[in-house]
Amino acid sequence: MLTPAAHELPGMRVLVMGLGLFGGGVGAVRFLAKHGARVTVTDLKTAEQLAESVRALEGLPVEFHLGSHRDSDLDACELLLISPAVAPDNSFLREAVKRGIPVETELNLFVKLCRAPILGITGSNGKTTTTALVEAATRRMGGPTWLPTPPGCFDRPKRVWVGGNIGRSLLADLDEIQPNDAVVLEISSFQLENLAAIGRFPAAGLVTNLQPNHLDRHGTMEAYGDAKKNVLRGRGSVGIVNADCPIVGKWASTASNPLTFGRKAPVGRGACLSGGWISIADNGDAHTILPASALRIPGLFNVENALAAACASWVLGATKDGIAQGFAEFRGCEHRLESFGTWGGVTWINDSIATNPDSTLAALRTLSQPLILILGGHDKGLPFEDLARAVSPRCRAVVLLGSASAKIGAALEAAGCSIPVDRAKDLGEAVAMSAARARTGDAVLLSPACASFDQFRNFEDRGKQFKALAQEATAGRAEVEEMMASAPRTATA
Ligand code: ADP
Repeated sequence: MLTPAAHELPGMRVLVMGLGLFGGGVGAVRFLAKHGARVTVTDLKTAEQLAESVRALEGLPVEFHLGSHRDSDLDACELLLISPAVAPDNSFLREAVKRGIPVETELNLFVKLCRAPILGITGSNGKTTTTALVEAATRRMGGPTWLPTPPGCFDRPKRVWVGGNIGRSLLADLDEIQPNDAVVLEISSFQLENLAAIGRFPAAGLVTNLQPNHLDRHGTMEAYGDAKKNVLRGRGSVGIVNADCPIVGKWASTASNPLTFGRKAPVGRGACLSGGWISIADNGDAHTILPASALRIPGLFNVENALAAACASWVLGATKDGIAQGFAEFRGCEHRLESFGTWGGVTWINDSIATNPDSTLAALRTLSQPLILILGGHDKGLPFEDLARAVSPRCRAVVLLGSASAKIGAALEAAGCSIPVDRAKDLGEAVAMSAARARTGDAVLLSPACASFDQFRNFEDRGKQFKALAQEATAGRAEVEEMMASAPRTATA
């Protein structure tokens, strides 16, 4: 891969492959257009499917060739900028490589051109929540010095920029980001694989945990782990790893300056619980920040995320009050165990982000109500056995959905599932079936354990549709409840 310097971009013919809907493609196109590149966008998705992103680029001198990739677009192409979703064996990408066209990604471009040190956050689960917690904790920088920060690259930055996979490309902000600022990026394993190809790594890295995920793309757990480990490989880097994770806990020595975080036992240097308080451990001393019970986000896994974020925020130079206040105010992210309403005594919870069985297992462990669980979607090749065993004891019924339903159904049967299992043709039917099964005190939980691509644009689209459908399905019930509550009571004989 060959990253052009910004001054080489004017007039350069750049083909952006994969616009997507997560902001990375849009950010890249805006940046390229701003620097005078002649940009063409190609995507297998149609203009209709990509409407949001196409709208976000309105008014820019960009050509769109959507619905397919045409080899002819490579004829005059001087740089191909690919989305991280493009697999290395993609035939269009191979054709570009065969023709000797330099290939680049949005993140590679950012990492190469960014003047501020970067802290990368990766892992199988908890990336977005941890990144959002760091954002909350570093909103108020400055103030009295608290603890000396660990040796490394961040020298009390005034401003912390947060972006990446969290849904915000920072490419367009590059000119504004100063060398003495700091950047926090949520980074996926695909993006980390591409970073390795240019030999550029963040100055600091954090790995939340590692569980089977994306094996359809990476092949083996080892390859997947190797990609994640890249976040710790920066020279002189600060590496923050989860001491409680059997795999990631062993990676501390990959980084030059290792720190650990853990909920289960004290750590030497990093973040842990001390008498129930989220604390920074430095040279054996625990410096308390706030009680874990003050967090508004549910579940022990979120305590882990808060510990990870506390450690990263300390590295970035956040103050104790900044972290405490930021964490105490943080209400969580959309589509992650999001309780969006209670109707007829039934709580509806949107956990559309759960695209693998471990995330759904985490949701089952976190929630306490009897559950009607909506499961299924696109099968990513992951095993469902552990999840299937956990379903009967925690749920009153399951509704299966999407192309993975046969595989999940078989796993439930093999696990001796003793609760009703309904099969829905779409999300609307799944909502109706769930509403019919649910009783007062139950929760209907969409936590699909699968990707969304078979029926939705992405997990956000799935979550938003779920919320709209649930509100629609329960509207009648809510109105009846309201009428019953306000109706005058008549004596019965
Ligand atoms: P990511 O960005 O890695 O997908 P999120 O922070 O968006 O992770 O959380 C997605 C879901 O993953 C949560 O709703 C929860 O079910 C699960 N999860 C979050 N953090 C953890 C964790 N530390 N360990 C296990 N599961 C987690």
